[in-house]
Amino acid sequence: MKWNAWGDPALAKPLSDRILTLLTSVFGELQHVDTPDAADVVLRPSALTPDDIAALTAAVGAENFSTADADRLPRAGGKSTFDLLRRKSRDVQDAPDAVVLPATDEEVAAVLAVCVERRIAVVPFGGGTSVTGGLEPIRGDFAAVISLDLHHFDQLSKLDEVSREATLGAGLTGPAAEALLAEQGYELGHYPQSFRFATIGGFAATRSSGQDSAGFGRFDDMIRGLRVITPEGVLDLGRAPKSAAGPDLRELFSGSEGTFGIITAVRLRVHPVPAEKRHESWRFPDFATGAAALRAVTQNGTGPTVIRLSDEVETGLNLAMTDKIGGDQVSGGCIGMTVFEGTADQVNGRHETTRAALLAAGGESLGDEPALAWEHGRFDAPYLRDGLLANGALCETLETATDWGNLDRLKGAVTQALQATLQETGTGSIVMCHISHIYPTGASLYFTVIGAQRGDPIAQWQRAKNAACDAIMANGGTITHHHAVGADHRPWMDQEVGELGVRVLRAVKAAVDPTGILNPGKLIP
Ligand SMILES: Cc1cc2nc3c(=O)[nH]c(=O)nc-3n(C[C@H](O)[C@H](O)[C@H](O)COP(=O)(O)OP(=O)(O)OC[C@H]3O[C@@H](n4cnc5c(N)ncnc54)[C@H](O)[C@@H]3O)c2cc1C
Repeated sequence: MKWNAWGDPALAKPLSDRILTLLTSVFGELQHVDTPDAADVVLRPSALTPDDIAALTAAVGAENFSTADADRLPRAGGKSTFDLLRRKSRDVQDAPDAVVLPATDEEVAAVLAVCVERRIAVVPFGGGTSVTGGLEPIRGDFAAVISLDLHHFDQLSKLDEVSREATLGAGLTGPAAEALLAEQGYELGHYPQSFRFATIGGFAATRSSGQDSAGFGRFDDMIRGLRVITPEGVLDLGRAPKSAAGPDLRELFSGSEGTFGIITAVRLRVHPVPAEKRHESWRFPDFATGAAALRAVTQNGTGPTVIRLSDEVETGLNLAMTDKIGGDQVSGGCIGMTVFEGTADQVNGRHETTRAALLAAGGESLGDEPALAWEHGRFDAPYLRDGLLANGALCETLETATDWGNLDRLKGAVTQALQATLQETGTGSIVMCHISHIYPTGASLYFTVIGAQRGDPIAQWQRAKNAACDAIMANGGTITHHHAVGADHRPWMDQEVGELGVRVLRAVKAAVDPTGILNPGKLIP
């Protein structure tokens, strides 16, 4: 993964002339962006003392410890627009004081013990794809901060075909985990857009939601067990599929974002690799009609694996940027996608009942082509953001969820807040939205925002992001449906869970991490 951009450098693409023309026609002249090379970046020097280094090296071995800039820089943050803009700075950049790569639970425990004793903060690092400041190297009240990289935890340690459960190491990336399961005919079916780089531990720590959530559920729905190493001891959670033995502690540690402990292994529900797959694309006259159609599908439980709906703006921009989506068949309205998986009988049944529900709700079939094209390119869009940021545009995504009855109000309020604040910073904006995760009682809303950089783009986006978060809270949304809280959403956590809820989270933290070394400045206000 690149230190200052998304993904695999070999897949990076410069912006096409078509997109550059579109940008200047909407936003006018774009400001020049200075993009330093890695060699020009200055990191704050490591604050670890020789005794700290000796103790950490003793815990993991010299080959698994580094204070080199080349190791610290790629772990200096995640992949939000804030992170990527910070990487462009020629001022001294924050970075962890060292990178530590334990390979066993015992080594993790030893590292935590050193950090408690020597007052060093710990930021767990999975795939490095956080978009909410979850990886910011915040020292807090501590003398130094290390990045604890989980990538040695890369085993499929158990596959129980009878129970259809697999125990996977926290450091396995999405593709690595799926490859190990596929060798034995199984899959997880968890495909967030960050799939190629994010890890099993990161998915659990952030309650990730993949594009196939309609069929296979969110990642937290798949969790059957967790192994968590805390400064106070080890937790093996999940004795049975369900239990009435009090509150479910798996739920407490899912989404704990490295603040309660280090997840080293996750036991997950798996399913046989589906035998059949079918695609169908849709056009709806407007977003409200499309949303009502998706609601009918989820409330009747007709079983698509993927179902998504772009609003009018997202549909229009996709059509303007590519010839592929929808071809000549679409002008105006909103495009939707469906994918069905399972045995041949299951696919037939799921497709026919979903199709009937969408047709009855005002959908018009566009055949399989646009849905196949979407699936083919479904991990590519983030590369576009790098080109936009490098060419003087602003681009970021944010997300929330609410009940169906409140969806329109929330969408309108967030759109308006983004447009108004970006206007105040001197740029027009394109605010697009889609639904990609649906439930019988509600759905997520995923916004993509494009504007022009004017002056300091970090300050500019912070203003817009603050306004969007305020609008989310004032209009009945959750501060995050799947991106997690990190440092960026933390100021809204007291509104999300209430003052007593914050005290509950702090009490849990005090029990498992009394010195507070684990990921300070994240999640818990
Ligand atoms: C382009 C792009 C697309 C994305 N698309 C989606 C999407 O479709 N759906 C979605 O849900 N999210 C998405 N995300 C957000 C991100 O990929 C997820 O939050 C992902 O689950 C993080 O996994 P990771 O392994 O990269 O974790 P990291 O980014 O390394 O860490 C995330 C947080 O979890 C903590 N953490 C990581 N591993 C562990 C561990 N083993 N134990 C304890 N704490 C740990 C970290 O300290 C940090 O606070 C996207 C991000 C990007 C950049």
